[in-house]
Amino acid sequence: MRQIISLLLALPLLAATIHNGETFMVPFNHKVRSKLPHTTIGHIALFPIGYYHRKGRKVIEVDGKKVVLRILPKRYKREQLRVAPSKVKPPAKVKRRIEAEYREAQKIYGTVTGRNYIHKPFILPIKSSVTSPFGTARLFNGSLKSYHSGTDFRAPVGTPVRAINDGRVVLAKRRYYAGGSVIIDHGRGLYSCYYHLSKFKVKKGDRVRRGEVIALSGKSGRVTGPHLHLTIKLLGKSVDPLQFIERFNTLWNSSLTPRSP
Ligand SMILES: [Zn+2]
Repeated sequence: MRQIISLLLALPLLAATIHNGETFMVPFNHKVRSKLPHTTIGHIALFPIGYYHRKGRKVIEVDGKKVVLRILPKRYKREQLRVAPSKVKPPAKVKRRIEAEYREAQKIYGTVTGRNYIHKPFILPIKSSVTSPFGTARLFNGSLKSYHSGTDFRAPVGTPVRAINDGRVVLAKRRYYAGGSVIIDHGRGLYSCYYHLSKFKVKKGDRVRRGEVIALSGKSGRVTGPHLHLTIKLLGKSVDPLQFIERFNTLWNSSLTPRSP
């Protein structure tokens, strides 16, 4: 009987779908193998699917069973933004600063800390409504610049911003585009990033606990008004923070997922 139940539970896994910009997650007991880049947190294997990775088929082996993962394109919205011209076409003198900040961030996201800080589900950094979801194609002053690499929450200047899980602060400084920024390393290639802050409550190197106030929200950097921007980086890719948190917490709270040691 137990075998039948576990077979039935495993069946929907044999074929799975995921959208570009989302994180495919699957619980496992012993081992996960795939050519698709992935990491593990406890007994959950996580596969970040890049925003520009719009279709494909990948095979994942979970405890010896093959799962065929189909990647499908998601229909993200487009939005027009009007900002100070200097933030679209930055003046030459700040180019060096922007490049240095970009390199610094890439170096952080490219680092996979072997240690795992995550031993509980995630929370949101702020209790508020979403003003701009992840993935929206962005036209700044009429020209397509990028896609929205995180989730924006409504937040008047000075709103307390909380760490979404345990980790270590690896960056706390003011940057040109992101303004006041905090980046937390959660281990295993997972980072959470909080932008446009007005005041820091932590510094680089600090250990932080889930729910701890790390900063106050603001309107610094390239913004049209005060809000909190949250990015989740996994193995160097920006993924939809809300999809990540919802899926992770569902699996974490599920009795089917073995507890991590
Ligand atoms: Zn944003």
